[in-house]
Amino acid sequence: MEFGFGVEDAAFRGEVRGWLSSRLVEFGGEGAVSFAQRRAWERELGRGGWIGLGWGRGGFGNRVASLTQQVVWAEEYAAARAPGRCGHIGENLLAPTLLMHGSGAQQERFLPGIARGEELWCQGYSEPGAGSDLASVRTAAVRGDDGRWRVSGQKVWTSLAHEADWCFVLARTEAGARRHRGLSFLLVPMDQPGAIEVRPIRQLTGECEFNEVFFDGALAADVVGDVGGGWAVAMGLLGVERGVSTLAQQVGFAEELRRVVGAAVRSGAVEDSVVAGECVRLWAELRVMRWNALRMLGGGQVGGASSVSKLLWGRWHQRLGELAVRVLGPAGGVGPSDWSARAPYRLREEQRLFLFSRADTIYGGADEIQRTIIAERVLGLPREAMP
Ligand SMILES: Cc1cc2nc3c(=O)[nH]c(=O)nc-3n(C[C@H](O)[C@H](O)[C@H](O)COP(=O)(O)OP(=O)(O)OC[C@H]3O[C@@H](n4cnc5c(N)ncnc54)[C@H](O)[C@@H]3O)c2cc1C
Repeated sequence: MEFGFGVEDAAFRGEVRGWLSSRLVEFGGEGAVSFAQRRAWERELGRGGWIGLGWGRGGFGNRVASLTQQVVWAEEYAAARAPGRCGHIGENLLAPTLLMHGSGAQQERFLPGIARGEELWCQGYSEPGAGSDLASVRTAAVRGDDGRWRVSGQKVWTSLAHEADWCFVLARTEAGARRHRGLSFLLVPMDQPGAIEVRPIRQLTGECEFNEVFFDGALAADVVGDVGGGWAVAMGLLGVERGVSTLAQQVGFAEELRRVVGAAVRSGAVEDSVVAGECVRLWAELRVMRWNALRMLGGGQVGGASSVSKLLWGRWHQRLGELAVRVLGPAGGVGPSDWSARAPYRLREEQRLFLFSRADTIYGGADEIQRTIIAERVLGLPREAMP
């Protein structure tokens, strides 16, 4: 696929840069990290129409942007060091899923709230006994006499559940059905005291980004796709998570790499040929990942593409984290003086990158699972025995 920036993209870049620089000043610039500020920032993005640029169609309060303009937006966003997005799950995972599998009414109901930055979503897939083996979910939904679904069970590692307004839940709606049969994709409002309890999980960084979520007869507002056909919907969403939604993420990676290389040059760490070699390898590999993501966005799907993408970017990002702390030298270590009562460790940006990237080969489907998908579905190797 041909990719280059044109005159219109340059004008768009000017508009984006101007908007970000004026708004970020109002929102406290790079320091805007509290959740309340991130939430307010999400609404500000919504007012600007910047959420949902890649949905492919407008009408929900979102602008429609070409592929190159989406890249421009991601580049400028990363360069401006704008706040981490708390609306990512709604904008980049649920919205494309609703556009693929949802009814017109569901799109009309849910996409505007995401586009305005007002309704935050979380992803209710993993359970204590169902992570890699997602088809083992035991959370169940039962339809009452009033025709409404009530959800009971436990989810875990649910990112941002403590802040989210809604959760999309993969639950078993046919008692006795096995594995990927009899599952449904339900949309559940989180504000249900007594029926939903969220317990934060504290991480090594001291933060609580993810949670356990307990459902006890919680009412679902809707079902996406067919009742009992939730597996296809859930897998469509995971394909987006592992593949096409990662272009903006890779633009962020490019900015991180630029900073790590800059730090290596300033500190003299690049005189170590191992460091210099890794800088070059990471740059080259990122180019290949970018071309691959663009090709997928352009519709050039090949078997296993999203698994290939996930395998490549997960490990790539971990290596960038390793390089970042290596460049810091002894300052890369975390010692007793970094300890504070508020959070176990005060982390530098590079240390945070190193630690958080440990998760990159796990969430969205662990590396081993991506390799199994490629082995079985692309290479035709013997299938793994399942319980
Ligand atoms: C930062 C982060 C955010 C997350 N956010 C969410 C979220 O918002 N919502 C949500 O639902 N989930 C979320 N998760 C959970 C994530 O999807 C799971 O951690 C992941 O699917 C792995 O499941 P598990 O943790 O149960 O590990 P397990 O499935 O128990 O796997 C443990 C290890 O065994 C390996 N393994 C398992 N089965 C096989 C096999 N058949 N062959 C070879 N190796 C195997 C795995 O690869 C892994 O290395 C998040 C996870 C992280 C790290």
